[in-house]
Amino acid sequence: MTHRAPLTNHHTDGTPCPPEHKHTASGKPLHPDCPGRAYSQAVCTCGTWTFKDRGKGYVNESRKRHVASHANPAAP
Ligand SMILES: [Zn+2]
Ligand SMILES: [Zn+2]
Repeated sequence: MTHRAPLTNHHTDGTPCPPEHKHTASGKPLHPDCPGRAYSQAVCTCGTWTFKDRGKGYVNESRKRHVASHANPAAP
């Protein structure tokens, strides 16, 4: 069974920060309705794994590692 853990971005109040909310390289919001990205989150379809952190790259790395662990359960 294949699982996926899509990454989503969120504002401080927990509402989703959709892909159309663009940010500058330093993370400053360019969309008028965007209060700024507060954190990124990944939720796996296996239902037992979620990961949340301010660092988008860190979340992305963790979710890839987790999804890979489903594909190869023997991996450390
Ligand atoms: Zn936003
Ligand atoms: Zn999983």
